[in-house]
Amino acid sequence: MRKWLCFLLAALFLPLPVLFSGCAGQAGARVRDEYVIEAAYEDGTLTAAQEVLWHNRTGADAGYVLFNLYGNAYREGAKYAPVSRSFSASAYYAGRSYGNMEITSVSGVAGWEVCGEDENILRAEFSEPVPAGESARIRIEFTLTLAGVNHRTGIARRSVNLGNFYPVLCVYEEGAFAECVYDSCGDPFYSECADYSVTFTAGAQYAVAASGECVSATLSGAKKTYEYALENARDFAIVLGEDYTVLQTNACGVNVMYYHYADESAAATLQLIADAVTYFNDTFGKFPYKTYSAVQTGFCYGGMEYPALAMLSDSLSGEELGYTAVHETAHQWWYAAVGSDQRTYAWLDEGLAEYSSALFYGAHEGRGYTFSSLFEGARAAYNAFCSVQKQLFGGADTSMNRRLGEYSSELEYVNIAYHKGMMLFDSLRAAVGEKRFFAGLKNYYANFSGGIARPEHLAASFSGRAAKKAAQSVIRAYTAGEPSL
Ligand SMILES: [Zn+2]
Repeated sequence: MRKWLCFLLAALFLPLPVLFSGCAGQAGARVRDEYVIEAAYEDGTLTAAQEVLWHNRTGADAGYVLFNLYGNAYREGAKYAPVSRSFSASAYYAGRSYGNMEITSVSGVAGWEVCGEDENILRAEFSEPVPAGESARIRIEFTLTLAGVNHRTGIARRSVNLGNFYPVLCVYEEGAFAECVYDSCGDPFYSECADYSVTFTAGAQYAVAASGECVSATLSGAKKTYEYALENARDFAIVLGEDYTVLQTNACGVNVMYYHYADESAAATLQLIADAVTYFNDTFGKFPYKTYSAVQTGFCYGGMEYPALAMLSDSLSGEELGYTAVHETAHQWWYAAVGSDQRTYAWLDEGLAEYSSALFYGAHEGRGYTFSSLFEGARAAYNAFCSVQKQLFGGADTSMNRRLGEYSSELEYVNIAYHKGMMLFDSLRAAVGEKRFFAGLKNYYANFSGGIARPEHLAASFSGRAAKKAAQSVIRAYTAGEPSL
């Protein structure tokens, strides 16, 4: 996500019981889960059914599985509001509004309930334990009611955002399913890559941008039905609107599309995005999908990344819009492909997305920013933040590995995850040397694309014992709180 806060301070489904299939089980091979989603949008409501083929990778018999219900954070009375107080006015453009995600049926299981700390979890109980390495098929029917809000899931002023619109399998790690609460600060999402087949129906008056490759579009009266396919993706998002003009080009074999309704320099923006795809492709590794859609939309922050799709706030223009487009494009490598637990290591993808953006501008003169204007800007903002904290509170907590809910403000989050994150990557570059730094990032991408990386994996990506050690100590020092003023 791009907050832009630095400028504040500076199929046919059979209702089977548990269906086992022995397709998993190869040692070391990671079998991907599958989502088959059929959804229809009309008048602020999404009615959907999804069938999930879940592979039990827990290493033991599983009596249940959990899903994150992000759409429920938008309901009245939610403990974790999706928008912080400081962004509420710009988000809720027509006054307070609520939505929710209602699960209407779950089949293929013995029982289910909506639970979790904030009604954010769907727990599906199997009729008999699913053995390790085997799989279960679960069908969930749900209704997503959208709030009027310029945010990831909502009816924005001129478009409809369908980010995080379906129940998402919780990641299983360290003996438990990781449940996500909707912290307003940062991106409170954590998921594994899966294969998607999505059928989406909406009024034919809408242009529809989606994460996947559109494999068919069928007009039936006043409705249009699209079929999308997306493999090895961490998430799937859709944006629709009536005002869009779509520009497209090709970059490294990727069909790059730009959906816009308020950009006087749309052709230049498309070119910038295509250049970013080419640069990151050449610098880090091959773009993982066949399509990439950048979509202008109502969004209370700068932008938001999804696999093969980026939301760009329609409140941005000129260089700010361009920068946000580049930052969200970098997330295709650092978030979409190489996943990480954004709830704890926000710097790992945000810091690297920021640093990658600075590298892009460093390699492309005349686009409004330079590497040093971006890097020095981030450093100055971080130093100013620390200095104010020191004056006010006698010091700043500059530790980096912390839960999103542990940040006292979005300002602190941006300075730690983005600005200091950028500084961390620059220090890594200095510590391991130019050649090893870029080769290491290529390794990191190659080894963790489609997977989940942790800070120690980043350090281990640099070749040579000395470089690994140097990287480890930079990461350790930075995340522990150094340097501070
Ligand atoms: Zn970001």
